[in-house]
Amino acid sequence: MTVYLVGGGPGDPGLITVRGAEVLARADVVVYDRLSVTSLLDLAPARAERISVGKAPGRASRPQAEINALLVERGRAGQEVVRLKGGDPFVFARGGEEVAALRAAGVTFEIVPGITSAVAVPAYAGVPVTHRGLASSFTIVTGQEGEAGLPVDWEAVARVGGTIAVLMGVAKREEIARRLMAGGLPADTPVAAVTWGTRPEQRTVRTTLGGLAGEPIESPAVMLVGAVARLELPWYESRPLFGRRVIVTRAREQASGLVERLHELGAATVELPVIEIGEPDDGGVALREAAGRVGEYDWVVFTSANAVVRFFAALGAVGSDTRALGGRRVAAIGPGTADALATAGVRADLVPERFVAEALLDAFPPGPGRVLLPRAAVARDALPAGLAGRGFTVDVVEAYRTIVGRPSSEALAAAATASAVTFTSSSTVTNYLAVAGDLPVPPVVACIGPITADTARAAGLTVDVVAAEHTIDGLVTALVETLGRAGPTPP
Ligand code: SAH
Repeated sequence: MTVYLVGGGPGDPGLITVRGAEVLARADVVVYDRLSVTSLLDLAPARAERISVGKAPGRASRPQAEINALLVERGRAGQEVVRLKGGDPFVFARGGEEVAALRAAGVTFEIVPGITSAVAVPAYAGVPVTHRGLASSFTIVTGQEGEAGLPVDWEAVARVGGTIAVLMGVAKREEIARRLMAGGLPADTPVAAVTWGTRPEQRTVRTTLGGLAGEPIESPAVMLVGAVARLELPWYESRPLFGRRVIVTRAREQASGLVERLHELGAATVELPVIEIGEPDDGGVALREAAGRVGEYDWVVFTSANAVVRFFAALGAVGSDTRALGGRRVAAIGPGTADALATAGVRADLVPERFVAEALLDAFPPGPGRVLLPRAAVARDALPAGLAGRGFTVDVVEAYRTIVGRPSSEALAAAATASAVTFTSSSTVTNYLAVAGDLPVPPVVACIGPITADTARAAGLTVDVVAAEHTIDGLVTALVETLGRAGPTPP
């Protein structure tokens, strides 16, 4: 078994390497620290042990010798161990010491390089570290010379010219600036200091060497000194939702699409999964029974992707498959549900133009006929009643139950300062109020459609956004219109 030294990249979870993600996915143990990208821990199996060795408020970090010993011990025990580091494991990360300890102990190891913050953080701030005519070298220097164990000759670094990227230098920026100037760099040399780069909290301060000491700069930051620091090619910080924090209330299994879209638009997200999907009260007996005699129906109607997934699982459980739907017609309430059907190999015969029960009813041909409607335990009666009104015999079968989720206290704390909350169904509204009712209501309340909005209003919320198209994309588009850069700035 192997100990992998994995560079997790500078913060954006997308910036881990393919190899890094691969070894994380089969880790027995992940050893991480403060600058590790904690969302990357989700790539490890749920059963994997996660050990923090980093500094946390009020707690010292573990001495390096202890970390080395831990890696050796776990490696020897035959576990797949991932030592996850921020950026690259060999750039100011003491990776060499850990590897030396593993080698001395005869433990097999692999080094998975990462994208270092020294390059990626400037890139996310729109500053190329080299540029034709501006910089023909690029020097990476630590401001914590003590930790490196060797003094830095700042005056000599100044004479090298080119771009200087200072890591771990915020606290000593006054001395660093003074010595670089003593080495010959003019006081008006451009400086860009980028804090929490590649993360939604990214902040760039533009100044000069002479002005650096007087600027408020927070750690961790990459400070870039040199002519390139004057270049401005912004993209990340100018995304429409950059700097906004948006609460996602969907069930964990369903949140990823919305979370991804929001990240791509620059928003930070807080996942507050207020819904969990559970077995129906009867353990799925009625659903399996209905799936077993689906051939008796003219229509099968799905009003959620969950119902689709549960129905096909039930079909498999009774020894059947999609062919049992041959000759039946299939309806989906919207594109998300239709996508879930397509994944199961079935094309929906009917998807209404607007994704609500009423529109589905309008699109339905007249009865008679038999309809199977597998769906959540608690749902609106509009659809079965409407279908009955059109002459159909409707069997409503409980496919799953939604239960109130229990978000972590960290997630609740992050939610308290959010700019917006998104609701994708009536039950997300109800459960959110049950779980987070004590939190201040975010300035913007966004709902996927009119039914969800009605539920929110009935619960006393002011609804600011109702998506014109009742899909995740529609919700995101509406949110950008209200919360985006062009829209009003929330408090
Ligand atoms: N191995 C890491 C560096 C670890 S030293 C790498 O290759 O990136 C820690 C320093 O890296 C911090 O003090 C800061 O200067 C820099 N750093 C790491 N991540 C950063 C981020 N997201 N934004 C700004 N600086 C970061």
